[in-house]
Amino acid sequence: MIDTHFMSAIILALKTGLNRLDHSTEQTSQSSATLWVVATPIGNLGDLSPRAQAILAEVPVIAAEDTRVSQKLVPARSTAPHWFSLHEHNEATGINRLIQRLRDGDDVALVSDAGTPLISDPGYRLVCAAHDHGIRVSPVPGPSAAMAALSAAGLATDRFHFEGFLPAKSAARRTRLRALAQRSETLIFYAPARDLTAVLGDLTAEFGPQREAAIARELTKQFETIRRDTLADLKAFVESDGNQQRGETVVLSAGADRTSQAQTIEPMALAHELAQELPPARAARIIARLSGMDRREAFAQIERLRAS
Ligand code: SAM
Repeated sequence: MIDTHFMSAIILALKTGLNRLDHSTEQTSQSSATLWVVATPIGNLGDLSPRAQAILAEVPVIAAEDTRVSQKLVPARSTAPHWFSLHEHNEATGINRLIQRLRDGDDVALVSDAGTPLISDPGYRLVCAAHDHGIRVSPVPGPSAAMAALSAAGLATDRFHFEGFLPAKSAARRTRLRALAQRSETLIFYAPARDLTAVLGDLTAEFGPQREAAIARELTKQFETIRRDTLADLKAFVESDGNQQRGETVVLSAGADRTSQAQTIEPMALAHELAQELPPARAARIIARLSGMDRREAFAQIERLRAS
């Protein structure tokens, strides 16, 4: 026998689905509003594009991570915009109200505190919901710390992987870095500068001290630093200058096969040298750390070398 509650649930689900379909089709044809995804400066206010200024001067609704931060970007207007605070803690619930405004025909500008929204910043759910409701979404491109750093770092730009923030705790960070160690494209990480020494330390341990890398700190601001060097030397540089541990940083690393030949240490040559100087387990640990190779595999290779 079929449970009547079960049947009513199915009928209700079907009805809701149909209503939703009707509604969104209707909405696609009726709502002329646009969700503008507006990039804003990452430090230098002169980087706000004229088009971004024009949109922020006109839209009836501005959704911002921190409305106080974004208010200084908006020019004087005859009618104040409706400010809407959208951050990671209220994104899920806040979306409904924003979608309703868009469905009512009001354009919405989405901004984050700095740079391009959705790039390690809130907005993904809102953009998805707008698509689901057939609402036009349009970018107003501009600054993003990742692209600004990549453009000036002096590392390969033909292929890159944007990782964003690494885990805050060293053990989890090392695990994630180990998984990335053999990637051949340039890797881009976001990091607060106060974590820079620790992040460079973990990168050195997992990618090897000679891997080419770059730091791009306080981009577009007064005390901007852009420096390319090996991981070991970058770490030493940051450790020796407290100022480098302040502000915001992008860390970039060359891909696994992109460091110049002169700086590359072939893992098996290293294994051979270490196996002569250290107990096998210790040598295996060091090789695994520097090359990203599994420790047991490194141990087996050393045993084979010793036997040969
Ligand atoms: N959505 C932003 C973008 O498009 O760049 C990124 C936001 S994320 C929450 C903030 C991180 O971006 C910082 O921790 C830092 O890694 C990086 N960042 C932002 N501004 C920067 C700047 N002026 N110089 C260097 N890195 C910056």
